[in-house]
Amino acid sequence: MTTEPAAAEAGRDFIRDIVQADLDTQKHSRIVTRFPPEPNGYLHIGHAKSIALNFGIAQEFGGKCHLRFDDTNPTREEQEYIDSIQADVRWLGYDWGTDLYYASDYFERLYDWAEGLIKAGHAYVDDQSQEEIRVSRGTLTEPGKNSPFRDRPVDENLDLFRRMKAGEFPNGARVLRAKIDMASGNINMRDPVLYRILHAHHPRTGDKWSIYPSYDYAHGQSDAIEGITHSICTLEFEDHRPLYEWLLDKLPVPSKPRQYEFARLNITYTLLSKRVLTQLVREGHVAGWDDPRMPTVAGLKRRGVPPAAVREFVKRIGVAKSNSVVDVGMLEFCIRELLNKAAERRMAVLRPLKVVIENYPEGQVEELEAVNHPDNPDAGTRRIAFGRELYIEQDDFMENPPKKFFRLSPGNEVRLRYAYFIKCTGVIKNDAGEVVELRCTYDPATKGGNAPDGRKVKATMHWLPAAQSRPAEIRVYNQLFAKPSPDAGNFAADINPQSLEVLSDARIEVSVAESNSNEVMQFERQGYFVRDQDSTPDKLVFNRTIGLRDTFAKEVAKG
Ligand code: ATP
Ligand code: MG
Repeated sequence: MTTEPAAAEAGRDFIRDIVQADLDTQKHSRIVTRFPPEPNGYLHIGHAKSIALNFGIAQEFGGKCHLRFDDTNPTREEQEYIDSIQADVRWLGYDWGTDLYYASDYFERLYDWAEGLIKAGHAYVDDQSQEEIRVSRGTLTEPGKNSPFRDRPVDENLDLFRRMKAGEFPNGARVLRAKIDMASGNINMRDPVLYRILHAHHPRTGDKWSIYPSYDYAHGQSDAIEGITHSICTLEFEDHRPLYEWLLDKLPVPSKPRQYEFARLNITYTLLSKRVLTQLVREGHVAGWDDPRMPTVAGLKRRGVPPAAVREFVKRIGVAKSNSVVDVGMLEFCIRELLNKAAERRMAVLRPLKVVIENYPEGQVEELEAVNHPDNPDAGTRRIAFGRELYIEQDDFMENPPKKFFRLSPGNEVRLRYAYFIKCTGVIKNDAGEVVELRCTYDPATKGGNAPDGRKVKATMHWLPAAQSRPAEIRVYNQLFAKPSPDAGNFAADINPQSLEVLSDARIEVSVAESNSNEVMQFERQGYFVRDQDSTPDKLVFNRTIGLRDTFAKEVAKG
């Protein structure tokens, strides 16, 4: 078996092995895959796995991947979703070229084929209600019961089906069912519904149709029409495969795709169900589909996650045949690893505490040099002003520190990054007894952060000049759900009340404020941050993409 370099690099899995074998045996000369979203919500990171698999295989094996909207349920589908899905697939780095399709493009052909099934005695119009159909379908242990309408003559079926199409009957009055086997061990084969009556306006076909095909009927036939070679879907469709094949066998389709199933992505602390995500948005638990706490592609993008980190994550988790749950730490690891290399360093003070350097001359300002990336000299340096009044992080000071606290405390000396050693000489409190300002002295001989006498300090802290820094709002995100396996049925109860922390008095470097960059930066000692679209000229807003290390697991363990 030959292994193409690109494929080898992307890792192997059972689907890629099948594709390779099909090329080797010349079963196919060119691979065609598809990504078939229903436009009833935004894409999430589970979809990203499917996208990377389908588009990835097409890329690696010199084939192509179609983007096909499975728009067969007009009551739930919207143009906004069609647009966002295209934007998100592109953002992930994939391209469908000219191969953009809609299942609704095939409605005419699907209808004609359905008439063909009726004429061949493979489908019938059932007048039973939805409830009657459900009850007579049987269970996993009991066979179903034949519908009293199952043996309707072909002419009557055809007449009724045509009148369903013409809009003569109300919603739910009748359905078209395949005539297969009500006693089948596979419930999907117990005369599945192929068409239902739905008087609904469709974004693309308007009011032309009063009947719409079911997923099972539309999906495989769309694959066949487009010449898909490998129709890759998630495991819950495994039991639908016999129906997929039954339909391909009975219909005059132009090609015979094969369906393969892989395990869907599940992640701890995360729910990847469009129903839940839609409710989170509609019920206002989050600010929208692109809220940075959402596992949507739009949310990840807004949070500052680079698309390459999503691709790397998907590559690392691989493609398996049985379901499992991936630790969210794996995704976070991929994000950190990439940003550590790519992100330039800056300083920001999230919760400022004012410091006055008493022995620094009033009115004097000097410029200090700071490196933009410790491992990449090409990233250059920038200048930061140092003066008598500064801000440090509130957390970096303790008036009565425990033994192992090496940061600032009365009498203790620390290094201010790129600047000087300072020592705390006084603490000013408000009426409530809270520390509101520190008095410090600096050692002018330690400029740049080293003492000529070789004396050491145990902590290096970030800081900003009070006058030459700018205010900002910083949004710190934590997991949206407080439990590793949130309950999809009652998700509201599992929402983490601390999923968003807004720090509205933060300070940022002037260089950050003045750049219009949408690149993610590392704010030293704090994590990775990106400018948010809510920024205005008066108020810059930043999202924390991710912290510097994995503290979440520890916080949870502590309870
Ligand atoms: P939901 O079940 O959450 O309502 P869906 O999975 O049916 O949504 P579709 O728009 O039909 O959403 O999905 C498009 C494609 O993405 C399908 O092929 C589906 O199998 C795949 N997909 C959806 N969720 C995941 C997931 N968590 N992991 C991998 N692939 C997924
Ligand atoms: Mg679906």
